[in-house]
Amino acid sequence: MIHSQFRLASDYAASVALDFIAEVTDQLLPSNEPSDRYFRLMAAVLEHLRADPANVWRAVTYFSLWAVRLSGILPELNVCLGCGAWLSEVLNESGADEIERAWFSRSRTGLVCGGCRQSQGLRDGAELTGFSRLLAESMLRNPIAEVLPAGWPARIAVDLRRFLVQQIETHLERKLATAPVLEAC
Ligand SMILES: [Zn+2]
Repeated sequence: MIHSQFRLASDYAASVALDFIAEVTDQLLPSNEPSDRYFRLMAAVLEHLRADPANVWRAVTYFSLWAVRLSGILPELNVCLGCGAWLSEVLNESGADEIERAWFSRSRTGLVCGGCRQSQGLRDGAELTGFSRLLAESMLRNPIAEVLPAGWPARIAVDLRRFLVQQIETHLERKLATAPVLEAC
């Protein structure tokens, strides 16, 4: 159904992105409870992708974030779920604002601070950068076309997409088949 609106087959990444969006929607959306907000998200993301297949990484990142948010499984991005520490805009030793580093791992939902990561031995985890957390906040406040310039390179926000995919997979208790294919594009 999603593919029929498009002539993007020539663009491999955009085509895989459509597969990813279809799989996430299929898995997250309760079939007996259609959500207007979710369909509006889908329409905006698909329109953005159709406008220019080079928008693929912005489209997929925006979709993933909002799909997780609308499904009610987006964890707090500025609080350590281990100790409750604030992870954003803390004062460093020289009194300047800085963003506390934050980590995620497949074994748990949400983010933890460096101290909790160490004390809980979460060595398999990865960092969700301050840049990506600020980007996520911007995406939660703005329409898709207003989040940074078009034509993101694939490497932008790769940590954010990995984090979001892990939240989805933890919730579903299964892996998304299309996620590794997309990130290999
Ligand atoms: Zn902590």
